[in-house]
Amino acid sequence: MFEKILIANRGEIALRIHRACREMGIKTVAVHSTADSDAMHVRLADEAVCIGPPASRDSYLNVPAILTAATITGADAIHPGVGFLSENANFATMVEEHDLVFIGPRPEHISLMGDKVAAKKAAKDLGIPVVPGSPRAVTSEKDAESVAEDIGYPLLIKASAGGGGRGMKIAGDASELKEAYRLARSEAKAAFGNDEVYMERYLGKPRHIEIQLLADGHGNVVHLGERDCSLQRRHQKLLEEAPSPALNADEREKIGRRVTDAMSDLGYASAGTIEFLYENGEFYFIEMNTRIQVEHPISEAITGVDIVREQIRVAAGAPLGFTQEDVKLWGHAIECRINAENPENFMPSPGTVREYHAPGGLGVRVDSGLYAGYKIPPHYDSLIAKLIVHGQTRNECLMRLRRALEEFVIEGVDTSIPLHQRLIAENDFVNGHYDIHWLERFMGLKS
Ligand code: ADP
Repeated sequence: MFEKILIANRGEIALRIHRACREMGIKTVAVHSTADSDAMHVRLADEAVCIGPPASRDSYLNVPAILTAATITGADAIHPGVGFLSENANFATMVEEHDLVFIGPRPEHISLMGDKVAAKKAAKDLGIPVVPGSPRAVTSEKDAESVAEDIGYPLLIKASAGGGGRGMKIAGDASELKEAYRLARSEAKAAFGNDEVYMERYLGKPRHIEIQLLADGHGNVVHLGERDCSLQRRHQKLLEEAPSPALNADEREKIGRRVTDAMSDLGYASAGTIEFLYENGEFYFIEMNTRIQVEHPISEAITGVDIVREQIRVAAGAPLGFTQEDVKLWGHAIECRINAENPENFMPSPGTVREYHAPGGLGVRVDSGLYAGYKIPPHYDSLIAKLIVHGQTRNECLMRLRRALEEFVIEGVDTSIPLHQRLIAENDFVNGHYDIHWLERFMGLKS
């Protein structure tokens, strides 16, 4: 097992990884920008190295500085967390070239799944159902027209290098196609430096359902059930629940077996998530994330599996300590992402946290690096806390969530807590009747 892990990330996920390491008796190295010197994970880590100024490109994306920090502190492995360098195959390769272990899958699997056209083709070849669409990049307006004839309208034009919902445009009918194609390409070019796009059928009222996987590269692949992440604003998830109110045990078992078989054929090793749109009883692959995800704690809550610990064990070459038969889903879990932002207009709200009290009690988990007096820097993602609530039933989970949100005190900055309170009081939510467009309708926003 590793003796020392460098955590190449910040915020709550860095703290989450630190906690897993601590429980395993592994020492931690925090790397941080000058804006994060007072962060909780930096305080708790065994060692800390400042790797640059606040801008991410000069610190959390600064590969030479991170590799140097790992070398001088004598770390054995690097955990990339989420975002930043977590899905960068070149980084994973360089980590290996420096005789360090990258805690994630092999670089070729990161690049395969990072190219959405290649990922969709691979998924299809592996027997995973995909959204009907062009099996390749669309290269001209003429090409787009002929592909559109096959797919039908409405359709979606998406960036091959996509992420965060950018470079995605809907064409409602043939008259909108050229403009949507042009816009998707220019947005993709601006966001990713790559204007390659592809097309697929636009699904009207799908849910976003994803399957959590763990694979050890010794032939063992298990799934930990699904998460329903349909509550999104501008393709950003806000609240997630497990299991999905829309799936039954039979459907879960079928799709679970499909994806574990596929990952076993691929030879995948590490934690991973396969994301689907789900409509009228059918699953359609949209992408695979080859890293730990923000919403992983709800799967931990209903299975009791520490996903980060397993990810570290597998990276060290250990086999998974359990099989699919050992995984028992128990109860219901919901995660609320709490952002430092105005709950009405979503303007970021960085600043000093004057008062802080996290809720507790049975079935309540809070992943957050906040404390009274902490200054939320303006340079990064606005996620400041995750509230994860577990109950024996969905109903108990909702009652507990209502209570926990009431108890949560974060003063000095605006947060999304009031939005979560409104959201969980809605009948549609209470009844589990929602799709990926529900939240934006509720907020009176257009996507
Ligand atoms: P990104 O990598 O940019 O996040 P995804 O392919 O994961 O892109 O899609 C992000 C979100 O966009 C999905 O969760 C869903 O809300 C919406 N979406 C993606 N593909 C489709 C589709 N074919 N039809 C309808 N909505 C879609």
